[in-house]
Amino acid sequence: MTLSLLTETPAGLYCPAGDFYIDPWQPVARAVITHAHGDHAHFGHEHYLTATDGEFVLRSRMGPAVHIDTLPYGESLTHGGVRVSLHPAGHVLGSAQVRLEKDGEVVVVSGDYKVAADPTCKPLEVVRCHSFITESTFGLPIYRWPTYQVLVDSFNDWWRISRDEGRAALVFAYSLGKAQRVLAGLDPSIGPIYCHGAVEKMNAAYRFSGIELPETKYAGGGERGKDWAGALIIAPPSAAGTPWQRKFGDVATAFVSGWMAVRGARRRRAVDRGFVLSDHADWPGLCNTIAATGAERVFVTHGQVPVMVRWLREQGLDAQSLRTEFEGEQDGRDDALEEPAETPTNQHSTEAEG
Ligand SMILES: [Zn+2]
Ligand SMILES: [Zn+2]
Repeated sequence: MTLSLLTETPAGLYCPAGDFYIDPWQPVARAVITHAHGDHAHFGHEHYLTATDGEFVLRSRMGPAVHIDTLPYGESLTHGGVRVSLHPAGHVLGSAQVRLEKDGEVVVVSGDYKVAADPTCKPLEVVRCHSFITESTFGLPIYRWPTYQVLVDSFNDWWRISRDEGRAALVFAYSLGKAQRVLAGLDPSIGPIYCHGAVEKMNAAYRFSGIELPETKYAGGGERGKDWAGALIIAPPSAAGTPWQRKFGDVATAFVSGWMAVRGARRRRAVDRGFVLSDHADWPGLCNTIAATGAERVFVTHGQVPVMVRWLREQGLDAQSLRTEFEGEQDGRDDALEEPAETPTNQHSTEAEG
């Protein structure tokens, strides 16, 4: 990578002047964390720095013993002459882009981000910079998301129909971010809402952070013989097809993911409905955001890297790929670790759903 502020190391992206890493994948002394997803927030660092909004979500992922410092969005601190500030990425609660500035050079590491509406986190803020490091999870023109309102309306309709048919509606959605975004759009007058323990744990972190969500109940209790008809149940994708699912009886199933935009992915998941909802930017979202930063140099980390690099070069930008261990949107990688008793076999655990 041809940048003075950042360099690639085996542990991850490193800022030599400031002596800290951004989302490192090996244990380091000082880690700036863009957000709490498992591919960005790893265990074993001595110091974590995260946006204030993300403190409780990161804490509930990393445990009580971890040293977490926080920085409000837009405020800065200086390490070795490098000014560091965090700016909303619109991805999940507390997600941040990291802005680095030294001697007039500005670099922004965006982490994962999205442009679409999300009532559970602050919207993406475009940050002007010379160099921009972007993801490209959905970096193909076929990926264009419906609006949040369209999604929420069709989702509530589906739940209502399931209820009228005397069934429970079981929804698989990633436990951090996506589950809460679905939850925030639900119409609680339709019926009771239950959540798997992994989702409930994140709901608690969201509520503790001041995000309002409809009332939910834990779906793991010992209510044998309970009639679940009319209920909506949110579970992580790793719970799909496991014995945990059986107690709900006759259920209508749905999967919530950006990959649901592709017919084959829906078939592979063997669910009744696929809802196209992602916590990543779609193709127009990526292209517009990159352009709006004004960056002359763009590094593309994960997803559709060659396509995005080629497209950006055609726009006259100095674009190149950057190897990282970030994974983009995948459904349920570390959910299974959160509640092993309820998800004994996890057939999707290593599935990146590319
Ligand atoms: Zn993420
Ligand atoms: Zn990621």
